[in-house]
Amino acid sequence: MRAGIFYKKGDIRVEEVPDPKIIDPTDAIIRITYSCICGSDLWYYRGLSKHETGRIGHEMLGIVEEVGDEVKKLKVGDIVVAPFAWCDMSCPACKNGISSACWHGGLWGMNHTDGCQGEKARAPFADGCLFVIPKKTDKALMPALLTLSDVMCTGHHAAVSAGVSKEKTVAVIGDGAVGLCAVLASKRLGAKRIILMSRHQKRTDVGKKFGATDIISERGEKSVIKIKELTDGIGVDCILECVGTKSSWEMAFGMIRAGGKIGYVGVPHDVELPIPDMFRRNIGVNGGVAPAANYISELMPDILSGKIDPSPVFDLTIPLDKLPDGYKAMDEHKAIKVLVRP
Ligand SMILES: [Zn+2]
Ligand SMILES: [Zn+2]
Repeated sequence: MRAGIFYKKGDIRVEEVPDPKIIDPTDAIIRITYSCICGSDLWYYRGLSKHETGRIGHEMLGIVEEVGDEVKKLKVGDIVVAPFAWCDMSCPACKNGISSACWHGGLWGMNHTDGCQGEKARAPFADGCLFVIPKKTDKALMPALLTLSDVMCTGHHAAVSAGVSKEKTVAVIGDGAVGLCAVLASKRLGAKRIILMSRHQKRTDVGKKFGATDIISERGEKSVIKIKELTDGIGVDCILECVGTKSSWEMAFGMIRAGGKIGYVGVPHDVELPIPDMFRRNIGVNGGVAPAANYISELMPDILSGKIDPSPVFDLTIPLDKLPDGYKAMDEHKAIKVLVRP
């Protein structure tokens, strides 16, 4: 079989690798039919985070090809989607709703598991963390369902962590696939007003389709002034922080109203919290690595019914053999998110 292999900064290749085999009796082998490249894969591609040489990718949808002896629920032939953090769904962390901190879990492509950009993968704890898609589902819905692997659940986690609900004014920082899904998740939760920070037409078009009511193209201090203008000087109730940089957090604290909440899902890089300001203004900060496995069952029915459609985050589709071109396109901001068809 073929799979994407990470070598070093800027060097991803597609190569022949051995087919995965059942190792533990709770494993399943998945034939991957849809995968994609994530903004977080770019951290490795750009040499900003470490990744060992080997398979890469953490989002997949596919067909169960083989199951281990202790797999009870899943059957060969089931169509499944996997959360980006695999987990057992039975430990105290998973049962408490934070499967991304599973006591026995990890990330695809690490901890001796297969990356998802390839033709097949071995899935540990198959009954716990693979979610079955009804067999009769229209193929056209598969890209939307693949977003349950990561970006739709991560955007939802930002919104839930920030306490988005009806009557709330929301600002989304970050116009990548996660930020755009955070807009869609806020709309789904009934937010009254959703302000998206973006200056790229292609992304603002998707943001508006997803429910953004206002777009702010200014950055830094100017974006804070603009938010204050839009909200009668008050600031917003909920900030969905989907970037993770020092400047995005400065914007977040500039825009949030007293008593507001920041939900964060951007991987933090060089960020420190201003505890005295948080104390003085009663600002809440909540979030982290999204527990996608805890959200998939809630969100999948809304995709199947057509209530939400996150698929417009994919603006480029490539065959697996062209995987390096997909990374290049995302690295150069020529694509929001790349769908990969093995
Ligand atoms: Zn991802
Ligand atoms: Zn667990």
